[in-house]
Amino acid sequence: LIETRNLNKYFGDRHVLKNIDFRVAKQEVVALIGPSGSGKSTLLRCLNGLETYQSGSIVILGHRLPPVATPQQLKVIRRDVGMVFQNFNLFPHMTVLQNIIEAPILVRKLPKRLATDMAEHLLAKVGLAEKRHVYPNQLSGGQKQRVAIARALAMQPQILLFDEPTSALDPELVGDVLAVMRQLAEEAMTMVVVTHEMQFAREVSCRVVFLAEGQIIEEGSPHELFRHPQQERTRLFLERVL
Ligand code: ATP
Ligand code: MG
Repeated sequence: LIETRNLNKYFGDRHVLKNIDFRVAKQEVVALIGPSGSGKSTLLRCLNGLETYQSGSIVILGHRLPPVATPQQLKVIRRDVGMVFQNFNLFPHMTVLQNIIEAPILVRKLPKRLATDMAEHLLAKVGLAEKRHVYPNQLSGGQKQRVAIARALAMQPQILLFDEPTSALDPELVGDVLAVMRQLAEEAMTMVVVTHEMQFAREVSCRVVFLAEGQIIEEGSPHELFRHPQQERTRLFLERVL
């Protein structure tokens, strides 16, 4: 569903993605790990057109996403590629329910009744049915993140991208969010997850990709990568985080 070839991205003269060949198959859960500043977020953001890039190619869901996409191209991609951020990015002036139904009504043109039914179903799924009429500032971080996931799901995306969805959360709230993501993985949602949660990467992902200094150093099954890393860089990183 996703294929980048020789992807290169610069911020000014800083080369932050170097010849990235990154593929994700349908129903695959890929964990993207690596040190701070290695380019994980930048790669994820390139995949849904939040960043431009300089050379190489990105094909996503059969659509070519050029280095500088047009608004129309972005619209097509973002309809089907959902993104969940570290900081939730909920609309503070809207209730939980309004947050979820906004895009389906505006972008997918769903009738309000249908969008509301779907939102209630999704809220139940993430364990927050009773919160539908509250505002984001009345929620805990973990609850906000589960609303953000429900909001992304309401667009019925083909792919979900997560950028450190649990790293802004108090430790005791992390589990609820990971449980929702684990359930999505079991339902065969295609996901790319930038994460520091090595246990999650190990237990839930199909494949782990290790990025350092803008390069894919190594990738493999969780077993291969965590138990038998081939590269010194990977070993050093894992020693520090495990
Ligand atoms: P972290 O784990 O800290 O989130 P990361 O792997 O997600 O790190 P990126 O945010 O992708 O790393 O950043 C990669 C490099 O690009 C870093 O050197 C960063 O300083 C630089 N960078 C990121 N965003 C910008 C920007 N908007 N302008 C200039 N440089 C940027
Ligand atoms: Mg990041």
